Amino acid sequence: KLRDPEQPEFHQAAEEVLSTLWPFLQENPKYLKAGIIERLIEPERVIMFRVPWMDDNGQVHVNRGFRVQMNSAIGPYKGGLRFHPSVNLGVLKFLAFEQVFKNALTTLPMGGGKGGSDFDPKGKSNAEVMRFCQSFMTELSRHIGENLDIPAGDIGVGAREIGYMYGQYKRLRNEFTSVLTGKGLTYGGSLIRPEATGYGCVYFTEEMLKERGRSLEGQRVAVSGSGNVAQYAALKAMDLGAVVISVSDSGGTLYFPEGMTTEQWHYLMDLKNERRGRLQEMATEFNLEMLTNRTPWHLPCDIALPCATQNELNGDDARTLIANGCYCVAEGANMPSTLEALDVFLENRVLFAPGKAANAGGVAVSGLEMSQNAMRMQWTDGEVDTKLHAIMQSIHSACERYGKEEDGYINYVKGANIAGFVKVADAMLAQGVV
Ligand code: NDP
Repeated sequence: KLRDPEQPEFHQAAEEVLSTLWPFLQENPKYLKAGIIERLIEPERVIMFRVPWMDDNGQVHVNRGFRVQMNSAIGPYKGGLRFHPSVNLGVLKFLAFEQVFKNALTTLPMGGGKGGSDFDPKGKSNAEVMRFCQSFMTELSRHIGENLDIPAGDIGVGAREIGYMYGQYKRLRNEFTSVLTGKGLTYGGSLIRPEATGYGCVYFTEEMLKERGRSLEGQRVAVSGSGNVAQYAALKAMDLGAVVISVSDSGGTLYFPEGMTTEQWHYLMDLKNERRGRLQEMATEFNLEMLTNRTPWHLPCDIALPCATQNELNGDDARTLIANGCYCVAEGANMPSTLEALDVFLENRVLFAPGKAANAGGVAVSGLEMSQNAMRMQWTDGEVDTKLHAIMQSIHSACERYGKEEDGYINYVKGANIAGFVKVADAMLAQGVV
């Protein structure tokens, strides 16, 4: 905190991990002696650069680009790129730090990284987004590679942005390699990658519910966000018989008292991914209530899936959710719950899955995309989905192994942090002081 006082999100992520790891570290002092903690919280490398681009009127703008290469102990750096005005170094360090543990949990050989820009794609034309992506990649291309660092999408970076960046990388380097994941199906993408984070989050939820002898059938599920993760979390929950009562965007929450229908889900996909519109339009189209400037957490539900952004669910929200009967929370987004909310969930023995476990399905299938590219093959959607399902189950088992408490309650936060830590820390120990 003294070294980087202006990075509250990074401090929050580090505090969450270190406080749960502390008893384990005291029982295993070899990690402390080897300075593993000090090394884990310091990125191996940070790249910051200028991204100049021209808008459709000929006006030049300058954004800031970043790549945080956090830890490569178990594989090349891997993690998404975020384009959002709130992006700064502290936000990307928190995301990169989380990514190190998450990638370790997937069982695949991937280190952790994260990057992006404070560029806002909202309201920009396709041509403007393309020029920005080309400028961003012109610099980033010097620092990434299929065996070095393989970025993917995140908030504000979807299929369109990945396509533009991949095209520019290929032009600059004159090679067709697996340097990005989340690619389109026509040029090396994997089936089920768009679905993977949302599906994986719901698969993980299913595993948690099994612990209490329950299933998703008939459960009321509150989802926040309406982007990539939220869309497929909602779809899979509906497939499994749940009643999805909300989605949200930065304008507020769209409430479905009777549950979202398949027709409404298809409308949402077109609205958000093709027309790039606001949920207010959907409220008008279907005569639904739009809860302006509100999150979904005051709506009575059994299960909450926060899938929008960091710190979107605070301590009061957590108390309201519990008072209204919510007994399970799985984080589709990264760090959507504040530290206070997390404490409230754990104290009340809510089934609570942190993002690094519950949303690891996205990066897991990105890892599978790299495998398919390396083999010059493409697996069927069924094959990828089966592997995703197995990975989510194995993450659940790892959390159970390290997180089960004496009364049988599984503390998934502790379980995920220790399981991820052990894998990375042991690799670091083996590789010496580097
Ligand atoms: P998208 O850009 O597709 O969607 C983001 C959604 O969250 C939008 O509905 C957006 O609303 C909302 N949102 C973003 N920022 C804010 C904010 N400050 N306040 C309110 N709402 C906000 O992103 P993804 O779905 O890909 O990512 C969502 C979360 O999931 C992020 O935390 C991301 O890091 C995490 N994640 C994503 C993975 C992936 O594979 N995509 C993998 C693992 C984690 P609006 O459009 O109005 O801004």
